[in-house]
Amino acid sequence: MTLYWNERAETMSRDELAARQVERLRATVVRARERNPLYRDSLAGIDPGDIRTPEDIRRLPFMDKDSFRISYPLGMLCVEQNELREMHMSSGSTGTPVVMAYTEADLNQWAECMARCYRMAGIDRGEAIQITPSFGLFNGGFGFYHGGRKAGLFIIPTGSGNTPRQIQLMQDFKVKALMGVVSYAVRIKEVLDETAADLPDLKIGIFGAETFSDSMRQKIESSLGIEAFDIYGMTETGGVGTTGMDCPAHEGIHVWEDQYIVEIVDPATGEPVPDGQPGEVVFTSLCREAIPVIRFRTGDLTSVRSRGRCACGRTSLRLNRITGRVDDMLIVKGVNFFPKQVEQALLEIPGVLPEYQILIEDHEGVRDVRILVEAEPGVTGYMVEKHLKERLQFSPKGDVLAPGSLPRQPGKAKRVFFKNLD
Ligand SMILES: [Zn+2]
Repeated sequence: MTLYWNERAETMSRDELAARQVERLRATVVRARERNPLYRDSLAGIDPGDIRTPEDIRRLPFMDKDSFRISYPLGMLCVEQNELREMHMSSGSTGTPVVMAYTEADLNQWAECMARCYRMAGIDRGEAIQITPSFGLFNGGFGFYHGGRKAGLFIIPTGSGNTPRQIQLMQDFKVKALMGVVSYAVRIKEVLDETAADLPDLKIGIFGAETFSDSMRQKIESSLGIEAFDIYGMTETGGVGTTGMDCPAHEGIHVWEDQYIVEIVDPATGEPVPDGQPGEVVFTSLCREAIPVIRFRTGDLTSVRSRGRCACGRTSLRLNRITGRVDDMLIVKGVNFFPKQVEQALLEIPGVLPEYQILIEDHEGVRDVRILVEAEPGVTGYMVEKHLKERLQFSPKGDVLAPGSLPRQPGKAKRVFFKNLD
């Protein structure tokens, strides 16, 4: 097996990559402006000829989730509706849906990005993968499917639910790689323990849609005997895997830069931040037809890890793993923190299990944090409180529960709950 799906695109020099980005960005701007009235207005006064380097993208205006919401259902379309072949949709916290529609070429672009991810993880033609996200409007199931078809994989499309049967199928069909959300991998391990079933001979797990900490990753890897990869992508960029994944060096997420320009900006000012500094991730699609995005503010927070050639030979820029979302940041008694930092700290305590809830309690305008966490006998609330205080610089209350006490949720796990005590 070669290391790359598309060696030329994945290893081209940074100069060549920049030239390709400029050419594709100009074409995207011209097309979007010609074909959609919203872009005609927002890009009025932009001369595509003024885009000479990828950094010139800063001349263009931002867009965000609201751009999708106000144009529901297909107000952002840059093709005729009869050119569409598929759609996916996510509903954010406000409930207003975000729609992504695909032409044949868009589906092919998605599959190309996913095929690169599969090959990067070490999955070869004919090997069996099990796809555990649901097949429906959420993009996860079909994204893994389209890519698996392109990469010539043997696809077992279980979708979500019925964990004992999922485990049975892994055994029966010698599944090499598991696709899903990381909280589902935790669930599989629990069911394995409960039913005393044999550990399937899995080698690889590709996990997306939830941010997870390094300690969670290590826990999953050792309990299931797999190598875990962190895949990135969202409805607005075209779905799972479109924007990248980490490679076997696990030194950051490779962004498919011939397909997307990525920027990291200060969430307050929109100005670029230096490499290594945290900020908001902004994506521009370079090859998408139906609904291209131009400077889309994702709300995800992270930093550029490197623009140097990786140990794997790829030349694309690498992002650090996503720390959290701009709107997930919690502020308690003047201290800012992200749920993922709590997770990281909790799992450092021996005997603590990867099921927890963060309860934010409001009492007469004063916020307190209570952590509910499952742990093996011997772990006490005091141990949890002491460790979190050292690691997070504030003092949450810690409640330790017996394994299996917290409710399990299908799909993406909800970890933070707000409670008004007044
Ligand atoms: Zn690499």
